Amino acid sequence: MIYFIGAGPGAVDLITVRGMELLKRANLVIYAGSLVNPALLSWCSKECVTMNSASMTLEQVVEKMTACPKEQTVVRLHTGDPSIYGAVREQMDELDRLGYSYEVVPGVSSLNAAAAVLGAEYTLPGVSQTLIVSRMAGKTPVPDGESIRSLATHGASMALFLSVGMLEKLCAELILGGYAPETPAAVVYKATWPDEEIIKGTLQTLPQKAAHVCRTALVLVGGFLGNEYERSKLYDPAFSHMFREASK
Ligand code: SAH
Repeated sequence: MIYFIGAGPGAVDLITVRGMELLKRANLVIYAGSLVNPALLSWCSKECVTMNSASMTLEQVVEKMTACPKEQTVVRLHTGDPSIYGAVREQMDELDRLGYSYEVVPGVSSLNAAAAVLGAEYTLPGVSQTLIVSRMAGKTPVPDGESIRSLATHGASMALFLSVGMLEKLCAELILGGYAPETPAAVVYKATWPDEEIIKGTLQTLPQKAAHVCRTALVLVGGFLGNEYERSKLYDPAFSHMFREASK
């Protein structure tokens, strides 16, 4: 059986229990070496064959996955959660075409890890109830209508992947789209890795403060990184709901 597993953001104990158990019994692990913490391979047995996919093509990855006898356990290990910028769909479609079955084991995305290390909540009452996950166009184009400038018009919480190398342009686009230059923003480099770094600022100050970071970082933007918000209704003593009566 072939398993696509989310490795989590970096820390070896932030993979799911299911993912860890599958790594322990894997015969072959193909991991995305540019981003997956190699320390995660310490869950594998001595007999397990490991391959870094960084220098492989889609065709080569699929060829290696399907060369194993079907009763063996093959793991394709992706960073964070495979559903976000994971390039997994093309692998799954190829396996479908070739008649191989597979399962996906979700992971903790860097999106979640970055909020955790900042002690932040993306969806604060009175600030924003929407999180936009996007990126600047790079080698992969971004469809028309999803430009950073147009997404910025919502003023929502934003998490930008794969874009820290273009931080100056990114912040300029966010301001042109309508965020005030004083909007709080942060760069979280390698969340949960031993060399994690957090840089806080505003859309105006961040490009300079985080100029030394060129990869493996998220850029977070929005009022959720500030100090103003409203209390939740759910835990408000004056508010009744299905499980609790309001106090008089
Ligand atoms: N599937 C992954 C994202 C893969 S795209 C996930 O769910 O997290 C690779 C991008 O993810 C990087 O360029 C960076 O923007 C972000 N990223 C991955 N791991 C990270 C980490 N530990 N800390 C901060 N950003 C990270």
